[in-house]
Amino acid sequence: MNQIIIATKNQGKAKEFNDFFAPFGWNAISLLDLPETIPDVEETGTTFEENAALKAETIANRMGTPVLADDSGLVIDALDGQPGIYSARYAGLEKNDQANINKVLKELDNVQLNQRRARFVCVLAIARPNQQTTFHKGVCEGKIALSPKGSHGFGYDPIFIPEGYMKTMAQLTPDEKNKISHRQKAISQLEPGFLT
Ligand code: IMP
Repeated sequence: MNQIIIATKNQGKAKEFNDFFAPFGWNAISLLDLPETIPDVEETGTTFEENAALKAETIANRMGTPVLADDSGLVIDALDGQPGIYSARYAGLEKNDQANINKVLKELDNVQLNQRRARFVCVLAIARPNQQTTFHKGVCEGKIALSPKGSHGFGYDPIFIPEGYMKTMAQLTPDEKNKISHRQKAISQLEPGFLT
């Protein structure tokens, strides 16, 4: 079976990538599955693209193999695009989903449902030794709920209502989420040759 290194230590994301790649005969392994410990790559970029490239290129150089990295986040119009590239650490505590959700809801306290437009953005960067890094972007439009609901998924899923739905991303099954997610849209742009 072919193997892709996914430059993430986030089990939720790694599982989503594996669900997508498995039907094509690809085994997507995360950094947690490697025998050696890979230090965190500092996300010093100012865009999703820069951060995704930083992660993919740093790890591809170290491992000498192709690496796919994603950078993703939640962009909220009423907050001038925040939390954006800072989504994982919005409340200051690295990857504390509950604190991040609480902060978003607090910031949007007086904002009506029809002004809570937001989107999940995912940028994939594929770094291969001696080749230019390539990018693929996916967006999932929606709005921020008034309160959290549902227990599936991760991150901001309990407060994100995808366009055309009456429930949050966390109330969708993993299969339902995979059909509409920003990550799926980015992955579906991968050129066929990459998967054969
Ligand atoms: P990254 O690991 O730097 O890409 O940070 C992404 C952060 O954005 C995550 O920690 C989540 O807070 C948020 N995020 C990205 N994708 C999703 C998703 O599919 N559902 C919910 N939150 C997400």
